[in-house]
Amino acid sequence: MKGQHEKMWQGLGLDLGAHDALLEVLKKGYQDVYLAQKNRPEGMGYLDFVMSEVHGLRIKELIDEKAAGRKVIGSFCVFVPEEIVRAADATLVGLCTGADFVTEEVERFLPRNTCSLIKSAFGFKLGKACPYIEASDMIVGENTCDGKKKSYETLKDLVSGVYVMDIPQMKSQEGRALLKAEYFRFKEAVEKLADITIDADRLRKGIEIVNNKRKALHRLSSLRKANPVSVSGLDALLVNQVQFYDEPVRFTDSVNKICDELEVRTGKGEGVFPESTPRILLSGCPMAVPNWKLPWIIETAGAVIVGEESCVGERGVRNLTDSSGSTVDELMEAILDRYFKVDCAIFTPNPERLDHIVEMYDAYQADGVIHYSLQFCQPYLTESIPVEKALEARDIPTLRIETDYSLEDLGQLKTRVEAFVELIG
Ligand code: SF4
Ligand code: SF4
Repeated sequence: MKGQHEKMWQGLGLDLGAHDALLEVLKKGYQDVYLAQKNRPEGMGYLDFVMSEVHGLRIKELIDEKAAGRKVIGSFCVFVPEEIVRAADATLVGLCTGADFVTEEVERFLPRNTCSLIKSAFGFKLGKACPYIEASDMIVGENTCDGKKKSYETLKDLVSGVYVMDIPQMKSQEGRALLKAEYFRFKEAVEKLADITIDADRLRKGIEIVNNKRKALHRLSSLRKANPVSVSGLDALLVNQVQFYDEPVRFTDSVNKICDELEVRTGKGEGVFPESTPRILLSGCPMAVPNWKLPWIIETAGAVIVGEESCVGERGVRNLTDSSGSTVDELMEAILDRYFKVDCAIFTPNPERLDHIVEMYDAYQADGVIHYSLQFCQPYLTESIPVEKALEARDIPTLRIETDYSLEDLGQLKTRVEAFVELIG
């Protein structure tokens, strides 16, 4: 990918040396974690290709779209409604937040005790290594956790086009009214940026494109309920991660093709792991590319991950948006209905999340739950304690993990996960 795209990266203002080093680490990590797996579905070849070109051909597509007058909008959170972005013929991309980069420099701008995800976003900007952030015409920050909302005040000085969306903290009528006002304000901002008026037809089309993507991901999730399971948790996580980067219609087709293949495998009783493999439900903070540390530890410790209760997983795609409305107002109301159900830990109280964990544990025939929080993540760390207590009261074995993006705790994590897998096995 290197030689062919250098000019483009230079044009985006990337630091070529730092970027090359990042690509090398990514390539090696992908080989060790992904390509080393056995018996992968053939359809995953598409994802391997996307990952090999994630900073190459995909960026070229975005640059071509921009040249044709379309806009690119970057986001850090599943509360940013892709339906509205698609309705304005614009593209929504998730921004890189899954690896440490130039941490020392980041800590000149953010406190050391900031979660890795936020630090990562700053690292990629400061280290000039993320082509997505450089290609974005607008970057949406959302007032979710305190770390994020305060960091956007600083990010505004480092990047142009930062737009801050307020997000309620309670599922009350007032909270809903706030989200409604914010989604209308966002629609106007997107219309202005793209110079397009979003009418009902455009909005419905946007909803349908995003719904189809979510339906394909639901199909994939559903196939993971089988025993033996026909796809590894690592591969399913990758599909969920790539949905934030890839062109949505092409991505949807590719996921459906993978599902066709998995249906055949399941029909023949073929699995990636033996039937007796302990099944894990992973719950907690989102895992952005290339944050594969914990899933890799779990699946090399003799267990299989069968579901992710996470924004890069079921929490992010659980609900569809009703597309039956005939006016912009009705369709916007449907978008609001859909997003107001997202059970992120920034909400207080947040009982739906526990209900969903239990539902998923049953539906995916899991043998245990591993709760994953990033270090310094107040919402998920604080919520992990009552979640663990409530799960244990239901006799659901639970392991609470707190970690970051470094590899320093690899040995310690492996020991804890192996002991847990032995216990539930
Ligand atoms: S965990 Fe909360 S803040 Fe993070 S992406 Fe999900 S909804 Fe957004
Ligand atoms: S992981 Fe936690 S602290 Fe970090 S951005 Fe997400 S909610 Fe905020």
